[in-house]
Amino acid sequence: MKITSSEFIISAVDKDQYPKDNLPQIVFSGRSNVGKSSFINSLLNIKNFARVSQTPGKTRLINFFLINKSFYLVDIPGYGYAKVSQAQMVHFATMIDEYLKSKQASLAVLLLDIRRMPNEDDLLMYNFFKSFGYDVLMILTKADKLSNNQINKQKKIIRDTIQPRDNDQMIEYSIQSKVNHDLIWDIIESYIGD
Ligand code: GDP
Repeated sequence: MKITSSEFIISAVDKDQYPKDNLPQIVFSGRSNVGKSSFINSLLNIKNFARVSQTPGKTRLINFFLINKSFYLVDIPGYGYAKVSQAQMVHFATMIDEYLKSKQASLAVLLLDIRRMPNEDDLLMYNFFKSFGYDVLMILTKADKLSNNQINKQKKIIRDTIQPRDNDQMIEYSIQSKVNHDLIWDIIESYIGD
């Protein structure tokens, strides 16, 4: 896809603030530091775009970006329940629950570090998406850090841990080589009807 425009629209806490124009939405999620901002920037071919989501006050909100005036990229906060307080966890779960329930998106992109065994939070997030009926595209980030052999081994470990359902795909990516860039766009485009 050729990106002709990308705009930050709003950081939302509750559903009254979501865009109301019914354009398709793709939701992006991942554990903090998984490489989500880097991946979004690389996908859109824009430097520092997704950094908006990392600026103070916006990290714990749902950030909406309008791409090509035709669909929303929705960045939900990086998770990692171990590090946050109980109150923050409840706030996060309630906010995400409300967003996912609103069924604005049909595809969820879940980022996982290819070098790591998915943890409970990753599994929880995958199952959370599935419980709301989303298709999930798993992006295995930082593939340049492994050899092809190791990539295949890790993919097997990650697949065995997550146990993807409904033909949900798992694709490796690297911001250095941009491997699978076009394939990932093909999948996303099939959900936005562009
Ligand atoms: P976020 O917290 O999930 O948004 O993570 P960032 O996008 O800030 O990335 C976390 C770190 O991983 C940064 O130091 C990035 O440069 C690095 N990173 C992200 N993607 C890749 C990748 O594909 N390859 C390599 N080698 N490093 C990456």
